[in-house]
Amino acid sequence: MTSTTDITGTADAGDPAAGGPYRSYVYAYPHKTAYRPLGGHPAGRPPLRELWAGEPKDALSLYLHIPFCEVRCGFCNLFTRIGAPDELSTRYLDALDRQAGAVRDALGDREPVRFASAAFGGGTPTFLTAGELERLCDIAEKRMGADLLSVPLSVETSPSTATADRLAVLAGRGATRVSIGVQSFVDAEARAAVRPQHRSEVEAALGRIRDARVPVLNIDLIYGIDGQTERSWLFSLDAALAWGPEELYLYPLYVRPLTGLGRSARVAGAADPAWDEQRLRLYRAGRDHLLAHGYEQVSMRMFRRAGAPRAGAEDHACQTDGMIGLGCGARSYTSTLHYSFDYAVEMREIRGIIDAFTAAEDFSRAEVGRYVTGDEARRRHLLQSVLQAEGMRTDGYRERFGSEPFADFPRELGLFARRGWLDPSAGPGLLRLSPEGLAHSDALGPELFSPSVRAAMAAYEAK
Ligand code: SF4
Repeated sequence: MTSTTDITGTADAGDPAAGGPYRSYVYAYPHKTAYRPLGGHPAGRPPLRELWAGEPKDALSLYLHIPFCEVRCGFCNLFTRIGAPDELSTRYLDALDRQAGAVRDALGDREPVRFASAAFGGGTPTFLTAGELERLCDIAEKRMGADLLSVPLSVETSPSTATADRLAVLAGRGATRVSIGVQSFVDAEARAAVRPQHRSEVEAALGRIRDARVPVLNIDLIYGIDGQTERSWLFSLDAALAWGPEELYLYPLYVRPLTGLGRSARVAGAADPAWDEQRLRLYRAGRDHLLAHGYEQVSMRMFRRAGAPRAGAEDHACQTDGMIGLGCGARSYTSTLHYSFDYAVEMREIRGIIDAFTAAEDFSRAEVGRYVTGDEARRRHLLQSVLQAEGMRTDGYRERFGSEPFADFPRELGLFARRGWLDPSAGPGLLRLSPEGLAHSDALGPELFSPSVRAAMAAYEAK
């Protein structure tokens, strides 16, 4: 289970409160629905070698994407398919290996290439067998040159695939963080979210993860599920807290187009003030509960136990440093282009994209993406900084862009201030959200999207 449940939301211009507090989870900007095939761009499909020439390569992050799951959760719109029949996982790893070779080649050796962090996400990376996970680590180490034993390595897992043999491989190869999607410790709620699992399975998996002695355990939980009450929410939180997780992610439930839930109960994207109110109430209850139990808030979703080891790289700055994504659902970021492969949510489309990836021989060019320059780079920097509880230092922004955030975004920041979403006690050198601002991160973030990204997202046809 991934810990970064993906998004697509609407981003109406105007008052961010008008669209309700849950418009879009902004964890990467621009969203993939704003990417387009680069073959249609005047510059064409750029060779990776040209793209990466001159880019800083001494603190890259490496992400390997495994697009397989045992089930398709009702809330999930991530790029993943159910199962991997007919040796598909082998063919996928073969393609990943070819891609890694091509990408490492493109990075060249003129400047030092170093990875400051690595992550295996999905999908469910532990859908792979223990032997296949060894191979995945080999691709990261031998093909790409990442030193997994000396950098943070985060891996996503699910209750039924977090088996002792797989965890032993991951721990032995240097995993420093394991993130497990539990969603709810109440069986009926798990069923309502279309993630059928029993609490006993979840508890057994958590025991195996703790036995593997990976330094950081993250547990994902979801609020806003049909039938969930404040009492049952706190019950799930306490069940998670019993494991002393170093991190907890609390996700509001979204119902998105083409997902299991999107096809059934609620109308995806439709206004539902009572549900908004339920989610806000559960968010506040969850936040207060964790703060009272010795956790600090890192962002709207993320909480870290006081004194717990940091799971991220000390020397990778996500606002500025590059990312290499391998696999057909992964993104890569240079300072000017974000790129990936095609994106879909619907099962048949996903299967087609994975099949095309496994058959591909040429990985030397960027296929689908979006240029992120000038104004877009400012927006991205602001989004990635201000949605963190610690806020954004304005001198860092000024140093990078030569301008002031309030001068660049007077309308947006003025609106946030009027709404009470900025913390007036932060002082002149710091732009920080108030507790209510953090609670409204999913309304505030989309407000910072540029008109052209909004237009591209609106024109995107979900498939
Ligand atoms: S385990 Fe569920 S939420 Fe996680 S990627 Fe698979 S389908 Fe999505």
